[in-house]
Amino acid sequence: MKVIIIGGGIVGLSTAWALARSGHEALLFEQGPLPHEGGASYDQHRLIRLPYSDQPGYCAMTVDALKAWQRMWDDLGESHYAEVGSLALSTEEGDWADQSRQTLDHLGLDYETLDHKQIEALCPFMKAPAQAWGLYNTTGGVLFASRIVDSLIRDLRRRGVTLRDESRVVGVDPAAGAVTLANGRRETAEAIVVCAGAWTAKLFPELARRAVPHRQVVAYMEPPERHAASWAKAPVMVHLLNEVDIYAAPPAGGTELKFGCGQHRRPGDPDRLDPLRPNEAAEVASAFAPLLRDFDDYKVLRGQVCPYAVSPDERFVTENNGPILMIGGCSGHMFKFGAVMGEQLARTATGATNFKSFRLWAEGRHQTLTPE
Ligand SMILES: Cc1cc2nc3c(=O)[nH]c(=O)nc-3n(C[C@H](O)[C@H](O)[C@H](O)COP(=O)(O)OP(=O)(O)OC[C@H]3O[C@@H](n4cnc5c(N)ncnc54)[C@H](O)[C@@H]3O)c2cc1C
Repeated sequence: MKVIIIGGGIVGLSTAWALARSGHEALLFEQGPLPHEGGASYDQHRLIRLPYSDQPGYCAMTVDALKAWQRMWDDLGESHYAEVGSLALSTEEGDWADQSRQTLDHLGLDYETLDHKQIEALCPFMKAPAQAWGLYNTTGGVLFASRIVDSLIRDLRRRGVTLRDESRVVGVDPAAGAVTLANGRRETAEAIVVCAGAWTAKLFPELARRAVPHRQVVAYMEPPERHAASWAKAPVMVHLLNEVDIYAAPPAGGTELKFGCGQHRRPGDPDRLDPLRPNEAAEVASAFAPLLRDFDDYKVLRGQVCPYAVSPDERFVTENNGPILMIGGCSGHMFKFGAVMGEQLARTATGATNFKSFRLWAEGRHQTLTPE
């Protein structure tokens, strides 16, 4: 079956990979170059972690995601993942980490709780709040995002999959199963998968409130020399404070230390994102000040601006209209599902899974993949 894919980020590339593996013909259009460094998927790292607050659907999906990544590494002949584990901090009953613990219990998934001393033994660079306990999982870690994207592009080209860069789709016609490109050309297929990231609402303006384009900034950091060795062995860190959603990607596998802060995001047109402001990366990093020893000795290396589409409840947005299958509103948490999402989009586009099941699963409302 011939399937057109709109968008060459992690979702589109993984879908092309899954289609090619199951003997289908994929034709992918990317408006920018390939890889597209201006999309949401091209950064040194993205985190994968089991704790998912009170959302058992996405927590269980992460277990499936890890299996799908393993299938991808086996297929590509190289792994782009460092299983360094994850740490979240709880300071109040019912907060993010505490709810995540209850969800892990509900699903029977392993974790350890760490007291204050154990947190500081695991992460000696940390100054954890006195009342904090840690939710520690040995499963989870760092996905080397840009290496995955590069590797998929090489693999798809080797397989003969057609990847058309600099090819913006400006119209989608469900009745004809056709897309129109900016140069006026039309292409038809039996199915069309739309995974256009922050640009989704440009193709489907009716989704403007459900897949809201945002601008986010991450800060690349150099830790002080005395903490470099412990950072190099650190788990990924999420939800460290109640007031702000901050996370850290440790410098695993030759990457650099990165800090992010959920609250820093702002709505923004992905074609006209404001450039980085002076000191903006330092502002993002400053959210870590209460938690790190010797914070003043950390050096900001640079900031990076990134577009992504956020849905109001951060559940992924899916739509189906005739041959069109759309996924958007991937918010700050789709990368970890890249491989498994590609597999499920490929199955749904080719009729092996029905859209209703796919939607429930993608919205995080199933605890396991629907048996096929
Ligand atoms: C700062 C930041 C940190 C994050 N951290 C994590 C994390 O730790 N873990 C995690 O799981 N997720 C994380 N995410 C979320 C994750 O990165 C995104 O959800 C994911 O990369 C989205 O992938 P995508 O393929 O949907 O979008 P993109 O990678 O943006 O790809 C969409 C592509 O579609 C192309 N396109 C759009 N419109 C058209 C068109 N009309 N014609 C042709 N091409 C088109 C675009 O050019 C783009 O290349 C983070 C996001 C950000 C911004």
